[in-house]
Amino acid sequence: MIERTLVLLKPDAVKRGLMGRVISRFEDAGLKVVGSKMVLINEEFGKKHYYDIAARRGEKVLQVLLKFMTTGPVMALCLEGVNAVENVRKLVGGTEPKSALPGTIRGDFSHISFAYADAQGKAIENLIHASGNPEEAKQEIALWFTAEELHSYKTAHETHVF
Ligand code: GDP
Ligand code: MG
Repeated sequence: MIERTLVLLKPDAVKRGLMGRVISRFEDAGLKVVGSKMVLINEEFGKKHYYDIAARRGEKVLQVLLKFMTTGPVMALCLEGVNAVENVRKLVGGTEPKSALPGTIRGDFSHISFAYADAQGKAIENLIHASGNPEEAKQEIALWFTAEELHSYKTAHETHVF
């Protein structure tokens, strides 16, 4: 039941100075940060990460997404916890900020629609990437982190509370 999942704070989150507040959301929920680093990716790496987007969302979305994701550094995080993949997606909220519920990170910090982003010819800037399922999480963590960059440690709660 204890899982690890990949989270990216996308370039909009970094440039808006929201890294700390977003990480706090995950820490507040009791998820453990077991890996973190800032990375400026190139298109080639972006294609590896978003290898299935063209099939799922169309070639146009892949192109605008690659452009967006290479505009500045992202912060990559590996988070650990009970059903971490599902729990992180719940905290992050739906893909379209306009529809993302208040209380979720995307719902609280962004509001634009698919239609607006598409009309601008831009990716929807929704602050976060989070792995979609446990299988995807395994692949994505292996793509973004080496074994040495991932850490096992006990939180204060694990040491003193349980
Ligand atoms: P996620 O798992 O919620 O991030 O959603 P997807 O994996 O389906 O899509 C990846 C990313 O592509 C999203 O987070 C958006 O940034 C972007 N995106 C997805 N669909 C669209 C779309 O229809 N229009 C635009 N402009 N961007 C999109
Ligand atoms: Mg996705």
